[in-house]
Amino acid sequence: MDLVLRNARVFTDYAADRLDVAIDRGRIAAIAPELAADGPQIDLAGRLLVPGLVETHIHLDKTCIIDRCRIENGSVAEAVAQTAAAKRAFTEEDIYARAARTLEKCLVNGTMVMRTHVEIDPGIRLRGFEAISQLAADYAWAIDIEICAFPQEGLINNPGTDALLAACLSRGAKVLGAVPYTDIDPRGQIDRIFVMARDFDVDIDMHLDLGDTPHGMQIGYVCEQTAAHHYGGRVAVGHVTQLSAAPSAQFNEIARRLADAGVAVTVLPSTDLYLTGRGQDHSVMRGVTAAHRLIEHGVNCSLSTNNVLNPFTPCGDASLIRMANLYANVCHVSRPRELAECFAMLTTRSARLMRRSDYGIAVGRPADLAVFDCADPQRRGCRSDAATIRPENGRLTFTRPRATLRPRRTGGDAEAIAAVLG
Ligand SMILES: [Zn+2]
Repeated sequence: MDLVLRNARVFTDYAADRLDVAIDRGRIAAIAPELAADGPQIDLAGRLLVPGLVETHIHLDKTCIIDRCRIENGSVAEAVAQTAAAKRAFTEEDIYARAARTLEKCLVNGTMVMRTHVEIDPGIRLRGFEAISQLAADYAWAIDIEICAFPQEGLINNPGTDALLAACLSRGAKVLGAVPYTDIDPRGQIDRIFVMARDFDVDIDMHLDLGDTPHGMQIGYVCEQTAAHHYGGRVAVGHVTQLSAAPSAQFNEIARRLADAGVAVTVLPSTDLYLTGRGQDHSVMRGVTAAHRLIEHGVNCSLSTNNVLNPFTPCGDASLIRMANLYANVCHVSRPRELAECFAMLTTRSARLMRRSDYGIAVGRPADLAVFDCADPQRRGCRSDAATIRPENGRLTFTRPRATLRPRRTGGDAEAIAAVLG
C-alpha cells in the first residue's frame, strides 16, 4: 500500500467510526478495523477523516483586488463597475499570481474540488481563461479545478461575448455561466445560455436573482427552461437572495419547482450578507437564502465562498468551514439534522451538484481526504472559524484541517505519497 491511515473516525453518512484506511495508487483500497496492510503508516489517533471539501462557486480571476478599488456604497452595481475598471489592467501573469494566492488558502482549508467562474468578455477576452487553465494544470496535484465560462458584464448587451464563451467551451471549459440581472434582456440571456449549453453538452451555473425583494425573480423561468431542455440535474443557480425575502407560501412553492425541475441552489453567505439590504438603515435584511429549508423540499444545495478580497466581498480567507459557520448563524440553524446538512453542503451535496460520481470515502474512490481535529464544542468553546455538526452519535466541531492528503495518483514513490499542508 502507498499509505495506511490508522484509527480514523471515518465520516460516512454522518456516522464516525474508528477504522483503518488503506490507499493504493491514489485510491482507497480497503476500509476496515485493524486492517492487515503494509506500507507507510499515519496514526490519526481518532481524528476525523472526511472527503476533501468541494467549492462549487468561487471567482479566482478577480480575487485580491480590493486595494485597487474604491468602495463608496457597497452595491452590486458598484462592485460590477469597480471590477470592470480594475479588469482593464489584468494581465495573465497578474491573474495567475492573485488566483494562486487565494487557491493556496483554499488548499490549506481542505478544499480539493472546485468550480471557478472566469469572466469572459471582449475587454478581458481569454486572458482569465488562459491564466486559470494554467493554474488548474499546475495545481492538479492538489485540487481538481473546473472552469465555468462566465459573462459577468452581460451577453445580449455585450456583442462579441457569445463567440468568446463558445471559444472557451470548445477549449475545455466544462460549465457555462450566466448573470441575467446584469443584461438588458435577462430572459434573452437565459434562452441563449440554454441553447449554447446544449450545443456544447455542458452544465449551466447561473448567478440569479440577486436583489432585496421577491418581485421579478427569474427562478421560475429557469425551472421552466430546465424542464423544456431536459436539463434537470445539470443546472445550478447561485445567490437567489430575492428568495430569502419571499413569504413562506411563495418560498415553498419555488422550492417545490426547483426540486421538480432538478435545479440546484448555491448559497454564498458572505457576499449575500455584504451586498443585500444596502437601501435599509435599520433592521437590515440578511439576504441569505435558507438552503436547509430548500433541502427539506428535495432541492440539492451547496454553500460556497464566491469572492475573496474584492468589491463583491471585501473579506474572507477561502475557508468553507467558516462559510458553514456563518451560514448556520445567519440562518438560525441549530437542530442536529440541519447542522449535519451544513457539512453536507460543503461535501456530498456539493459533489452531487458538480456531478462527481467518484466522490466520498469508499473503496475504489480517489483518496482525496482531509483530517480534522474534532471535539465536543462544550469543552472546546466557540471559535469564529469553527463549524459544528451534530450527527446522531455525537457532536463534532471542525476548524482548519490538521492535514490534507492527496496521495499521488500514479507511481509507487513512497516518499511522495502524501501532500501535507498547513
Ligand atoms: Zn459569483
